[in-house]
Amino acid sequence: MANAAIPIQFAYAPTHNGMVIPYIALRHADGTPEFGQIDHDRVAECLLEKRCQLCAQRLTDTAVLMARPQDFGAGYGPEPAQHPQCAAYAIRACPMLSGRLPRHRDRTRPQRRQCSRPAACWCGQPTEPSADAIIRSGRAATPWYSVRFPMAEYELKTSARKGPRGISLALTNPKIRLVSWGGPDQADLGRVIVFGLPLPDAGTDG
Ligand SMILES: [Zn+2]
Ligand SMILES: [Zn+2]
Repeated sequence: MANAAIPIQFAYAPTHNGMVIPYIALRHADGTPEFGQIDHDRVAECLLEKRCQLCAQRLTDTAVLMARPQDFGAGYGPEPAQHPQCAAYAIRACPMLSGRLPRHRDRTRPQRRQCSRPAACWCGQPTEPSADAIIRSGRAATPWYSVRFPMAEYELKTSARKGPRGISLALTNPKIRLVSWGGPDQADLGRVIVFGLPLPDAGTDG
């Protein structure tokens, strides 16, 4: 579904195949995005500067965080947050907009596509899939939740060595909605119960 209405703040945003290119999407040297791969420097920038992962503008009074059951277990979500309207767009337009594709993939190696400037780009270099990608590949798609919270509660989880890790899920009264149920494994199901997360039957509208 590439034809979701594009929110007003993206009027001048770069698009690719009819989709807004998320700020955190990895880009090739020729400027084309690699949907589903994230630019870790931009992720850190968004987390630290309280910017939206989609439009890169500063978050204002309310933010939405996308989180998996395992993130609730860890106590933080590793993705930068979004404006509510940006999150709504990303959910409608395409889940991989937000860098979630790798965790849904069922193959070990991401498809290699070279851009028009491979000599100057990461795509022209021989690489092996990262350990993280291997662990995630072949796993059933995990459930995804949207977590809406006031920016007054925005708190970074950081580590001394790796810098910002994500946004704390220790929130007073977050509004949690199921975005996609996928095919949760036993560990996911356990966390859904433990953290009282919404189930597919319990109102998945919108
Ligand atoms: Zn490239
Ligand atoms: Zn935004």
